[in-house]
Amino acid sequence: MSSYIEQSSPNWNERPCGCVVDTVILHYTGMKTGAEAIARLRDAATQVSAHYVVEEDGRIFRLVAEEKRAWHAGVSHWQGRDNINDCSIGVEIVNPGHEFGYRAFPTPQINGLITLLSGIKERHGIPAARFIGHSDIAPQRKIDPGELFPWRELADYGLGVVSINPCLDQSVVARKGDVGDVVCDLNKLLGIVGYHNLGDGNFGSGTEMALRAFQRHWCPEHVTGELDVGTQQVLSDIAEQLSS
Ligand SMILES: [Zn+2]
Repeated sequence: MSSYIEQSSPNWNERPCGCVVDTVILHYTGMKTGAEAIARLRDAATQVSAHYVVEEDGRIFRLVAEEKRAWHAGVSHWQGRDNINDCSIGVEIVNPGHEFGYRAFPTPQINGLITLLSGIKERHGIPAARFIGHSDIAPQRKIDPGELFPWRELADYGLGVVSINPCLDQSVVARKGDVGDVVCDLNKLLGIVGYHNLGDGNFGSGTEMALRAFQRHWCPEHVTGELDVGTQQVLSDIAEQLSS
């Protein structure tokens, strides 16, 4: 615990009664510097926060105690649940993001993050499948932590699940505007993984955004919003892992 730098934020409230922390949401800060991001997350006027911020050099700042409800997720949905802030821990990873020069996450930062997340996992008994990205729970609005985030490396520590299948085959099976059984199956599998269940055979913008979020996390080599053979294989595999 002593390795945290305390930078408390006023932007939190109590968790709802009976809430058990069982999910970790990973974000990037999306601002030019870490200092700027921390200042924003500590400003009462912004109404946003996170439990932790991980700097590029690996330093970890604690803004909100884990037992309190930090305000990081916004309007969100995962595996049949809304208001993901209620039972999650939010971790902001310093990176300028797509707006200010998205770049690879440095090794010291990922090492610090793995140490932090391993502690959270142990304290709350969080299963591997419940380490997910902000873009997963808010695919219409968010793209963080983004396609450069090293999910495979984290999975080696039980922090997230990945597929052993590579997303190689980019032959397109379905795209926006398509209808039918292939799209029904696609929407069903996206719902099983955790995205808002679209429940029909229409490949509309909801399907496209969820698919794009899925690819950003599980097929980062090609974030196209189109269903290709490689994505289809990985989607089936992840749906099976997350439903078992
Ligand atoms: Zn975020």
